[in-house]
Order: sequence, then structure tokens, then C-alpha cells
Amino acid sequence: MNTSYNFAAGPSGLPAAVLERARKELFAHGDDGSTAFEQPFTGEAFGATLARARARLRDLLAVPDNYHILFLAGGATQQFSMVPLNLLGNAAHVAYADSGHWSQRAIREAGRYAAVTVAARYEGERPLAAPPLSAWRLPDDCAYCHITPNETADGIAYPALPDCGDVPLVADVTSCLLTAPLEVARFGLLYAAAQKNLGIAGMTVVIVRDDLLRRPAPLVPSSCDYRAQAAQESRANTPPTIAIALAGMMFDWIAQQGGLAEMHTRGQRKAALLYDAIDASGGFFRAPAAPVHRSPVNVRFELANSALTAPFIEYSARRGLHHLRGHSAFGGLRASLYNAMPEEGVRALIACMADFTRSYG
Ligand SMILES: *Cc1c(COP(=O)(O)O)cnc(C)c1O
Repeated sequence: MNTSYNFAAGPSGLPAAVLERARKELFAHGDDGSTAFEQPFTGEAFGATLARARARLRDLLAVPDNYHILFLAGGATQQFSMVPLNLLGNAAHVAYADSGHWSQRAIREAGRYAAVTVAARYEGERPLAAPPLSAWRLPDDCAYCHITPNETADGIAYPALPDCGDVPLVADVTSCLLTAPLEVARFGLLYAAAQKNLGIAGMTVVIVRDDLLRRPAPLVPSSCDYRAQAAQESRANTPPTIAIALAGMMFDWIAQQGGLAEMHTRGQRKAALLYDAIDASGGFFRAPAAPVHRSPVNVRFELANSALTAPFIEYSARRGLHHLRGHSAFGGLRASLYNAMPEEGVRALIACMADFTRSYG
């Protein structure tokens, strides 16, 4: 058997069916003789790919009509700047909840453009938990409040959404979009880099309510202006065409599997299997997050004896279980269980952990 599983946090594995479809379709020559790699972005063939991907995503997430769906070049880090540049307007403040690594990166970047109020603070003490959902500090005259619902590196997730009243809620959903149903109307803007759950690197999905498009800063680069990109359906300049084609295939695959409810069911089951195995290991393995704050997509765990971390990573790689190293900021282990990870992969990891425990415990 040469089955292998990719537990990387990103770019991450793609479903075999999507890879197979990409292999066939991307290299096929269309009526004009060009492949997907060669199609002009203003042409009909790519236009159809773009429209299909947009319609499929709108359908999957039940995106209301007053929201635009943009497919933009670059990663989530670029949105850390684009969000304040596009949404600050005449407001004096923006609010950010600090929930760990990625929200801290977003806060740092926003501070270059706006006065940032930290609405809620991450304690970082074990057991790890997202900030409490009540008593957030929202300044007067606040353009938006930003949250990171799933902290990919810390391995924690909010159990629910905060209530920010009339202040638009902006969320970095890079590691959790399309892993469960989401009520888009609760948000002013959502963004997700594609390489975690939606395909390959180079593209970020932005879903933005139309009333938020009226306030780009004078300095915003034209390619980063949401309003201009919305007006031209993400074709104000050359979009990442292949990443959009791949995302369209991922959206089709998710729909074929049964949509977001099914992704959620599978995700909950995979996460429960792995966390249960960690909890049942008698302390040999342990998860640092409090149970209700554990991320269902990025399972952060560690060996009580940290000297066994490197041997475990080698041992698991020999069994075809790859990229289990934790985020460089934290060390330890992390298993990312995005939509493409089958339950068999999780079961193989659990079996590997049990065998390792017998050999080294
Ligand atoms: C991966 C990740 C990012 C960084 O994305 P890039 O595309 O590398 O800029 C930001 N936020 C979250 C929540 C992530 O998981």
C-alpha cells in the first residue's frame, strides 16, 4: 500500500477527484485552441469558468444578493491591508479581537493604516481559549470589528460569534470557510485564502456587503480596490485564473458530496475521533486547547515528552502521514483536517499514534 495523507496547514491536500478533473480539464484545448493556462482573462472561456465558480459559491453558502463575491490575487495577508484601506472611510477607529497568531498578524498590519482598538484579548494560557464573547470594547466611530473565527496556528476556534451590534463584523475565515454552513448575513465582509479549503495558493475569496464598498482610501492601489474589482467582476486586472478554475472544481466537489452540512458532519466526526484518541492516550499525547475551544480543522497536539516530537514526525512520515509538524511559533504537532482529508487518514493517524505509544511509551 502506498496511501499517503497530507496533514499540512496550507497549501493542503486536494481531493483525488478534483486532481483528476484538473489533470483532464486544465490541459484540454478549447475551441480557440488554448488550454485553461492560456485563455485570455477577458475572453469567453475564462468568463464562463469565473461565472460558474461565483454562482456555485453563492449557492453553497447561500450568499444574499446584496453581497459581492470577489476572487482576488494574493493571500489572506494581503487582505490584512486591503480591509482597513477599503473599509476605514471617515471613521477614526477599527476594532480587532486578538485570538492568537493570525489575528495578531492582522492587528499589526491594520495598525499601519488605522487606530486599532483591541476589542477582546487572547490570554494564551492553558487550557487555550478564544476570548470570551461578551464585554467587547468597541470604540465609538468604529469602521468594523475583525475576528479570526478559526486560529489555524493556535488550534483554537470560537464556539459562537460575538454580537457587535451595528458595527460590521469582518472575519478572516481562511482555514474554516466551507467546512460548515455559515450565516453570511451576520458579516459585513469575509475573506479566505484559497490554499486551505478552496484549492491552491494565489487567490483569495472576498465576500463583501455592497454598502461597504463606498469608502476606499485615496491611496488604495487600484488592483486592491474592492469597489473597482466588484464593478468589473474581479477582472479589473488579470485575476489568478488557474486558482479560480481550481476553486470552481472544489466548489463542485463539495456540492456533489452533499454541501456544507455534509462537510460539517464529516469534519465533526474526524475531529472527535482524533481528539478522543489524544484524550484517551493517558497523557502521552495532549491537546492544549480547552475542549469547547478546540479547532475542528487544525488539531494542535503534542507529546508530553517533547523529546519524542521529532521521532514521532519521522515515524509517521514513514507510514505515509506527512506534514504533522506544528506551526513554527509553537512547535509540537498539528493535524489539519480540511475538507479533502478523508476519515481514513484520521484513522491511519490514530493507529500510528497507538503503535508509536507502544514502541516509545
Ligand atoms: C494561512 C492563514 C493566513 C495567511 O494566509 P496567506 O495566504 O499565507 O497570506 C491568514 N489567516 C489565517 C486564518 C490563515 O489560516
